[in-house]
Amino acid sequence: MTPLFSLSELILESSFINGVWQDASDGKRFDVVNPATGERLASVPHLMRSDVHLAVDAAVTAFPGWRDKLAEERAGLLKKWHRLILDHTEELALLMTMEQGKPLKESRGEIAYAASFVEWFAEEARRSYGDVIPTHMAGKRILALKQPVGVVAAITPWNFPAAMITRKVAPALAVGCTVLVKPSELTPLTALALAKLSEIAGIPPGVFNVLTTKDPEAFGSAVMEREDVRKISFTGSTRVGKILLRQAADSVKRVSLELGGNAPFIVFNDAHLESAVEGAIASKYRNAGQTCVCSNRIFVQSGIYEPFLKLYTQAVERLSVGPGDQEDSDIGPLINAAALDKVKSLIQKAVADGAKIVCGGGGHERGGTFFEPTILTDVQDSMAISKDEIFGPVSTLHTFESEDEVIERANNTPYGLASYFYTQDLARSWRVSEKLDFGIVGINTGLISTTVAPFGGMKESGLGREGSKYGIEEYLETKYVCVGGL
Ligand code: ADP
Repeated sequence: MTPLFSLSELILESSFINGVWQDASDGKRFDVVNPATGERLASVPHLMRSDVHLAVDAAVTAFPGWRDKLAEERAGLLKKWHRLILDHTEELALLMTMEQGKPLKESRGEIAYAASFVEWFAEEARRSYGDVIPTHMAGKRILALKQPVGVVAAITPWNFPAAMITRKVAPALAVGCTVLVKPSELTPLTALALAKLSEIAGIPPGVFNVLTTKDPEAFGSAVMEREDVRKISFTGSTRVGKILLRQAADSVKRVSLELGGNAPFIVFNDAHLESAVEGAIASKYRNAGQTCVCSNRIFVQSGIYEPFLKLYTQAVERLSVGPGDQEDSDIGPLINAAALDKVKSLIQKAVADGAKIVCGGGGHERGGTFFEPTILTDVQDSMAISKDEIFGPVSTLHTFESEDEVIERANNTPYGLASYFYTQDLARSWRVSEKLDFGIVGINTGLISTTVAPFGGMKESGLGREGSKYGIEEYLETKYVCVGGL
């Protein structure tokens, strides 16, 4: 279908609250910049705490009406939103690349992925079944009802400016919750464009609100002090996730957290070499290494190490670094100067401690925050680069001898989000996937994200699951009803 809006019409410079495009009550704003050029793209409202409270009021007021709609009606509106997102794939992808930097092909992929959550949960809306449970006593009947948790506040990161929003908002809206989203201050434009399309789809005022601010603590503490916000859903760093979990304790809010990772990528001697190389590239270099499921430690068994390193180096050297809006770019800029500094310093420390640079290793000749695709060998588990989330286009190669050894080393991290391994041995596939302490295991694949699967972490990588039939449970209460006197 022809898009209703052009790219410039989708660059919105107001927050969307209660169905109205609004400024901060004190008029303050902040700039959004293009990480590839440093150019200012737009400015958006820097909302104050009092604005957040008014938005919560709107979501609270909108809740009963939205909750009481038929599931079919909510599903119908979500389906319209889904269609509108797909119709604007090109415009939204360009906008995302402008504010986030990722290559256009990845932005297009993310828009399709983001839309798929809206479609999936529109379908699930009509299937949030409860139970009738065989009774424990004659004259009584026992029911379990599924009801929406209420008003939800969602805080989302910059690395997936669309999908991390729809992954939370679609299940919440599907079951009758109303939602306030605070997108990352670095990427609010995609969020606002999604809000525009939800408005056109006919989602009623107050049901889906997007609040922009560059003071995330103010937003966080404002929604936390409201007893009528019943759920927080957050994707971002483990550091902030822990703060939110503590804050949520005061009014015992439901909490879903999708936090940092430290994904192992294990290549066993019996792996299919070319597939393992392809999978490692896909998992490591997507979004310039800036995803929480990017492989952070590549463990290669000694018998296949040399051929793997050779082929992998060739593949990494072929990756083209450039602005995301150039169709042939594989790797865009890092999000900002702080990200660049962090990656540089991790590499410097590793090299000082004995790691060797096989390729890349520094800022790219394009300047700005472009970084060379890098491979380091001779990396030790004790180095900071093995313990921290690198969030850059840097592979660290480790060698290992035995299956037990690599499982122990892979699990030796407080994180537990994604993990990957390559083997052609069926029995090993089962053994290793059961022993890895990670919420997600990719066997012979480097790409694991899909709407239909439960995404989420163990240990300090988070709480709860997103996507799939499990993702909708996060937004539902189970109410037990006991009917007596029959
Ligand atoms: P990243 O390191 O990926 O930017 P952050 O955890 O810092 O991850 O940010 C993820 C999201 O959390 C962003 O929307 C950011 O604005 C928000 N955020 C950061 N600090 C806080 C806080 N103290 N309270 C609430 N939200 C926060």
